[in-house]
Amino acid sequence: MRIVLLGPPGAGKGTQAKRICETYNIPHISTGDIFRENMKNDTPLGQKAKEYMHKGLLVPDELVVEMVEERLTYEDVLSTGYGYLLDGFPRTVFQAGALCDINAKKDCELTLAINLEVPLDILIERVTNRRICPKCHETYHLKYNKPKIEGICDFDGTALYQRDDDKIETVQKRIQIYQDETMPLIEFYEDKQKIININGLQHMSDVFKDIKKVLSGVN
Ligand code: ADP
Ligand code: ADP
Repeated sequence: MRIVLLGPPGAGKGTQAKRICETYNIPHISTGDIFRENMKNDTPLGQKAKEYMHKGLLVPDELVVEMVEERLTYEDVLSTGYGYLLDGFPRTVFQAGALCDINAKKDCELTLAINLEVPLDILIERVTNRRICPKCHETYHLKYNKPKIEGICDFDGTALYQRDDDKIETVQKRIQIYQDETMPLIEFYEDKQKIININGLQHMSDVFKDIKKVLSGVN
């Protein structure tokens, strides 16, 4: 199964990605998580990505595409019959075209793009209240998805943090960039008849129920 998750910042991509990957046993590939991991370890890739991420800008296409192409050669992808869930990629029409080319080299096609629809005006509240575990990348929300102990990850006891780019000034920029650069992907996948829209405003477990309904019909 080869899935792409689309949606604006705060739509619930990471939250749903975790559930989908656990249920369908495919690797969760989040380009944002990979960049943050590289920033934490101060790698050359992390240093380059940081310049853009801190400002809420997209990392240049060539850098992201090269990174994803390499990630898709890892054992967890190969051992699941070239299976993956991409969370946060593609984000531009160029990246979507590059993904088609990468898949074609493997004689494979994307199974589905799942588009989480959430009105833009509620995203700010979602994103500014997001807290993350730096260790396992579990995502929490200060109101809708609180950890059992305030500020601490339920799974590994690590202190939660707020992403630098989740502060209000940067979020507005990221939403604008989503509208300009990423929204055109909806039409891109509509043209290929590969997109399913899901109402991302529902409770997270109901969003996941809808996704499962869709995925039970594909293979
Ligand atoms: P994305 O990866 O698309 O940016 P996340 O999955 O990180 O989004 O979710 C953004 C924030 O909103 C997180 O704090 C998360 O806990 C919360 N969230 C996710 N899905 C829902 C939902 N259906 N209802 C309310 N809050 C949600
Ligand atoms: P969100 O979950 O809120 O949508 P992500 O964690 O996916 O955010 O991405 C955080 C940041 O990482 C983006 O604002 C961008 O700077 C960078 N990034 C992640 N994925 C991509 C991508 N596919 N293309 C360009 N930049 C990306």
